[in-house]
Amino acid sequence: MRIEQFAAQQLPLANAGELSVFFIGAGSAFTKVMNQNNILVVKGEQHLLVDCGNKCTQALHELGLHAPDLHNLLVTHTHADHIGGLEEIMLMNRYMAGKKPNIVINERFQTILWEHSLRGGAAYSEVRDGQPLGFEDFWNPLRPHPVPDMPRETWGYRLGDLDLKMPRTMHFPNNAASWRDSFWSSAVIFDDRVLFTSDTRFDPGLTQTYDEIFDFELIFHDCQLFTGGVHASLEELTTLPERLRSKIVLMHYGDNWRNFERQALDAGFHSFARQGCCYRFPAP
Ligand SMILES: [Zn+2]
Ligand SMILES: [Zn+2]
Repeated sequence: MRIEQFAAQQLPLANAGELSVFFIGAGSAFTKVMNQNNILVVKGEQHLLVDCGNKCTQALHELGLHAPDLHNLLVTHTHADHIGGLEEIMLMNRYMAGKKPNIVINERFQTILWEHSLRGGAAYSEVRDGQPLGFEDFWNPLRPHPVPDMPRETWGYRLGDLDLKMPRTMHFPNNAASWRDSFWSSAVIFDDRVLFTSDTRFDPGLTQTYDEIFDFELIFHDCQLFTGGVHASLEELTTLPERLRSKIVLMHYGDNWRNFERQALDAGFHSFARQGCCYRFPAP
């Protein structure tokens, strides 16, 4: 794996075939100095925007991309730093580009996303025969399938050459005993090589158990710089085995992360994810 700082005019949506993970941002939900923790994954001719927060379309604009340029999306849960940009993506696509982007989503999460979040800003853009618009007027859903023999509920989808596996996570509420009691949220595994936890509380049942199966090359892990609430804290992550810490890249961190950088490196973590950097994994 090598890390490259992006320097071109426009972020490319295709490459020669390696798996690449670009950090549009690595900041927490309330960051004021970074972009939110949204990534663009590219492999060959395929691209996938994973999460699109309320600051994401501005960030994409600064990377030379516009909402309709993105054909494939996946969102991990319904917090605004992960879905706040979807309304703009939907409306720009329908009313300016005249197309529907693909979204990797199962029927259950589609209902949650539409009914709890997206419907208010989009459904009554048009009324036909007394009926407002629905989710599938804006999106072309790509349906993942349950992956058998996984330690917990996991959904899988193959986007061209890019393999996706989405294990459920334990993000919120803060008193849920496990992923089973938590509201919908998921991590994403790319090509069985890289785990992107998205947002989760400390949950060794995800990180350790899946690493035993896949032996990840790198783990991008949610990291909160204090303990409590709905994210894994640096203190909690420090209790993971050294073997895991050494391949954990911390992400989704607060604006004061520099105050914790030494502590995290001394604790044996790989690094903090950096906004504007691309993590490239060559073909095996
Ligand atoms: Zn978040
Ligand atoms: Zn969240």
